[in-house]
Amino acid sequence: MSSVLDIEHTTFAIMGPLAHTPTAAMPCHCVIFHLSDRIILLDTGFGVREMEEPGALLGEDALWRLAPVVDRRLTALSRLESRGIAASDVTDIILTHLDSDHAGGVHDFPNATVHVCHEELESFDGTRPRGPYKPYQLPHTTRFKTYDRTGEVWFGLEARSLRLPGDLDAKLVMLPGHTLGHCGVAYREEARWTLHAGDSYFDHGVHFSPLAPALPLEIAFQASAPARLASLGHLRRLKQEHGEEIAMFCTHDQAEFEHWTAGKGRPDPISADIMAMAAGSRE
Ligand SMILES: [Zn+2]
Repeated sequence: MSSVLDIEHTTFAIMGPLAHTPTAAMPCHCVIFHLSDRIILLDTGFGVREMEEPGALLGEDALWRLAPVVDRRLTALSRLESRGIAASDVTDIILTHLDSDHAGGVHDFPNATVHVCHEELESFDGTRPRGPYKPYQLPHTTRFKTYDRTGEVWFGLEARSLRLPGDLDAKLVMLPGHTLGHCGVAYREEARWTLHAGDSYFDHGVHFSPLAPALPLEIAFQASAPARLASLGHLRRLKQEHGEEIAMFCTHDQAEFEHWTAGKGRPDPISADIMAMAAGSRE
């Protein structure tokens, strides 16, 4: 059985600066699991296609609202290839949800199995329109493994254990609201759990304060306000009651991203370079 050699935090997209969020830039915090014989990705950011045709594929409205940095080097495929890792080495992709800034890179790994919550795929395929869902990103040829309710519980939250190759112990943790089937992904790292909370919150400094306001971006993209607030309540409880046992981060919090990368002795030279160039071009 393949073993986990390394767990790497990275960003596969940079957005912003945005006037309506508290940070100057938003990463798309993803995880690369390096196993002895394969790579497993947790979320994929935008893919190569979005970097080549951003206006045509994402739409001018998304470019205006999210201001993604257009640079192919940010994509999962480019980052892996630059280190001699082939696309075919990526055998599995876990997605928190199917918005375009999380599922865009799936296209670049056509041999990978995509692991996603049943309700999220049902919502994606449903008739209720959602701007960030981009049907072109997940064609009928995508190989999905979906996960339905089993009664499993993880620290009081509904969970679904992922059937992954190797000995990566990971679960989908139901945190709906941003999308109807939105999940966090919990994975065990030695004796401790880490929870990627996806887009269930955007800024740890705001959302874990006693009177947490919602950011305009969250309201604009929420599928269900009551579900989103309930999920946020669950995360607050996890932090209060199990903060020693569970490390947590979300997708788009720049300060958290810096803590998990530079703060762990892993500065990201690509992101730093691109951020410096973007800052220069915007002056
Ligand atoms: Zn997102």
